[in-house]
Amino acid sequence: MHRRHFLYSASGLAVSVSLPPCVQAMQKQMKITGLETDLLKMPPREPNYDAIHQLGVDTGQVVLRITTDAGFTGWATSNFGMLAGGPRVVQTILEHEVKPVITGMDPAFPKKIRAALWSALEYHGVTGVVQFALAATDIALWDILGKAAGLPVYKMLGAYRDRMPVYSMCGWYYDNDADLSKYKRQIQTALEQGYRAMKIKTGRYGVDDDVRRIRLAKDLAGPQCRVMVDANQAFNKNEALRRGRIYQEIGVFWYEEPLPPHEMEGYAQLAQQLDVRIATGENLYTRHQFLDLMLRRGADVVQPDNRRAGGVTEWMEIAALSDSFGLELASHGGGAANLNMLCAIPNAIYMETSGPQKIINGEVLAPESPGMSTELPRSYIEKYKIG
Ligand SMILES: [Mg+2]
Repeated sequence: MHRRHFLYSASGLAVSVSLPPCVQAMQKQMKITGLETDLLKMPPREPNYDAIHQLGVDTGQVVLRITTDAGFTGWATSNFGMLAGGPRVVQTILEHEVKPVITGMDPAFPKKIRAALWSALEYHGVTGVVQFALAATDIALWDILGKAAGLPVYKMLGAYRDRMPVYSMCGWYYDNDADLSKYKRQIQTALEQGYRAMKIKTGRYGVDDDVRRIRLAKDLAGPQCRVMVDANQAFNKNEALRRGRIYQEIGVFWYEEPLPPHEMEGYAQLAQQLDVRIATGENLYTRHQFLDLMLRRGADVVQPDNRRAGGVTEWMEIAALSDSFGLELASHGGGAANLNMLCAIPNAIYMETSGPQKIINGEVLAPESPGMSTELPRSYIEKYKIG
């Protein structure tokens, strides 16, 4: 048989096989039919602090649902640990600017949708909260694709592992904690929860206070548990270098965000002058800023945030770039979307999270439900919904 005829007849045979309903849904073109949002506000709790932020007082979320004519609904959530007004801005962008662009488009084309949204929205946001809205949209699209295919998203993305090492972000600053008793209790709780790595904040006060905190964490954690430090942009380059030499002497696993995110040349100098891993990226937007950081050799561990860096599509491209540069990757933040992506990234080393989880040997298992596992219970939404 002529090769072309064989291929035609082979493809003819393939479509004649009776396919399960979910595959039939994928084969027919889907259309986005609508977009819904909920604005949530959490009650204030006792604040915690890093070097520059107060968290936990003005906390909110926007929940996104993208509906399709195939019956699948894609979910995503965009969280704000501070700035109660932030979710309202993201909600407005989603409802008034994203919705008209994506309605009628096929959710199986996330890169096409990303390009369309970029064209529509770049005027007021190649970075910033516009990107939060675009990222949430992309995460919801991948949730739809996973549900339609009957696969968890990490398998849709080309899985590398089915479990992921985690660390606990537990070493915060608190009010009225001069003796570090609250700080100590948080670290002990994380250890009891099964974590084998933890991160603590530094840089809010002087270097002596940093040393005291790091030593206490390392003493509590023991030699088997890694301790990372995060300075949240607190330093200039000279101070970052001075403290970094002390941190690495004590033996921290990584030194995170010592400088403001845009000081890429400063990051490059620190990465060259210190042996400890330099970690950064939570405040970078899109693959373009990450490429800039990597070309300058400004980090050893890149830390994309799935609200700022981009949704799944952009995030996976950043991850592939970081792998090409021989770098390690850790997520900024946790949850199901990060976990699905990390399980498909060979050079991923940690997911950031906190609180009780099912942890086995320092790892959490990948979600196995079809889609992204980003749905929230209706009762939770009703409880906190303000718009
Ligand atoms: Mg950080």
